[in-house]
Amino acid sequence: MRKPLIAGNWKMNTTVEEAINLARAILNGLDEKEPVETVLCPPFVSLYAVKELLKSSSIELGAQNMYFEDKGAYTGEISPAMITGLCDYVILGHSERRQYFGETDEIINKKIQKALESNLNPIVCVGENLKQNEADQTQEVITKQIKAGLSGIAATSQLVVAYEPIWAIGTGKAATGEQANATIGLIRRTLTGLWSDKIAEQVRILYGGSVTGSNITEFVSELDIDGALVGGASLKAADFLSIIQQTARQKSTQ
Ligand code: PEP
Repeated sequence: MRKPLIAGNWKMNTTVEEAINLARAILNGLDEKEPVETVLCPPFVSLYAVKELLKSSSIELGAQNMYFEDKGAYTGEISPAMITGLCDYVILGHSERRQYFGETDEIINKKIQKALESNLNPIVCVGENLKQNEADQTQEVITKQIKAGLSGIAATSQLVVAYEPIWAIGTGKAATGEQANATIGLIRRTLTGLWSDKIAEQVRILYGGSVTGSNITEFVSELDIDGALVGGASLKAADFLSIIQQTARQKSTQ
């Protein structure tokens, strides 16, 4: 039985003060008995302050990125050692990192390896762009991203995968539950091929792309979808809380 997971990717939004206020509003509204793992991913500069606020809660933290070296002359980068202790999770290979910062599958592979060595659970993002989707290349693109990203990595249920079609991110045009479940099923079968059926059944796979309180149930009612990586709607406490509550309700009936 996989524990549902809802992660909020705040991206490059919120000052430290705004991050504290948002985390406090989520903390105050959350029923911690909900059987859903909740992860907040604020900007790096707010991680420490948000961690202090959430110290005695069940809400966990994730970083939005990290470099694959431990330390050294890499101006502007953040190492795994700097976030271990603050975070349980790290988002890797987000499409915005691939698109604007030139991250390749090879770089992402090194980061995944390093995150696992550093006791951080990687949330690895994969997804096709609109052109690839329209050319019916989704399966090929996703399979390649998974195989290259996980090349040489030993089987582990610590991995979380987020299927995020690029055309659905921040556009208000989400995939359908059925579409997302079909691609997520493909990701699970790819993991079976790479590792084993047992591990593939344990890995949590999320959907991401314009998830809101109005469409979350469509996604989490699908058996292969274990939760969501939420961007825009995670910046509004009420929306984010509603996403968690609906996930808890839906998954408890499966
Ligand atoms: C994301 O950036 O991971 C994301 C899914 O964004 P949004 O929910 O805003 O589409």
